[in-house]
Amino acid sequence: MRAEDGLFLSRLKPGPRARALFRGALDAVFPPQTIDGGAALSGGLSAQAWSRIRFLDGPVCDGCGVPFDYDPGVRCAACLASPRRFDAARAACLYDEYSREPILKLKHADRLDLAPLLARWISRAARELIEGADALAPVPLHPGRLLQRRFNQAAEIARPLAKLNGVRYLPDALIRRHATESQGGKSGSGRRRNVAGAFEVPPGRASQVAGKRILLIDDVMTTGATAEGCARALKAAGALRVDVAVVARVKEMNGLTI
Ligand SMILES: [Zn+2]
Repeated sequence: MRAEDGLFLSRLKPGPRARALFRGALDAVFPPQTIDGGAALSGGLSAQAWSRIRFLDGPVCDGCGVPFDYDPGVRCAACLASPRRFDAARAACLYDEYSREPILKLKHADRLDLAPLLARWISRAARELIEGADALAPVPLHPGRLLQRRFNQAAEIARPLAKLNGVRYLPDALIRRHATESQGGKSGSGRRRNVAGAFEVPPGRASQVAGKRILLIDDVMTTGATAEGCARALKAAGALRVDVAVVARVKEMNGLTI
């Protein structure tokens, strides 16, 4: 049963957060709905869907979180050749046809009930970065996009993640000044140009980030250009350190829609 099937709810037309809360209440009564129709295992994923996710449990590059066959703390050739504007990054899993399912369902199908599950994935993968952070901040959406989608998926993941770990949550430490073109189909340098100067710490929020270690939260990292745009703005406002934690990391460009 889906919450929006109810006549009562369709009349009230609740926002996605209200629907997620209601769905949470329903889950206590009915078995949770799985995204692929299989039997539920945990948080809306069937055992089969869960088993296909490629979690990044092995060694990763300390700089960008890409899977990497060296000891922890070592950086990949790309990070050594061109240091990032953020200090370190971690991803819970690889972005592929299986992990994109819960991510796109959250983003485009109002499945906000999946956000706490994705937050738990990040909580596990980015433990060290979370423990070293003074505050968590989501990658912001442009206000126009926010109006369209009605929620920011990065914020929906960051909020329960902060609560779960007892870390301060800064929902509006960063703003997206202008709507950027879609990053899809752009190269790394094209993506960097696209987001250069797009982010800003509003003057009223500078005291929240100055001298602080900020952990940026997003759903997917492709080239890292968006995270670098955010890190540039946070550091310009005096952030001591900026790390990045995402649900999924693209290992190589493979034509998947993000
Ligand atoms: Zn790297």
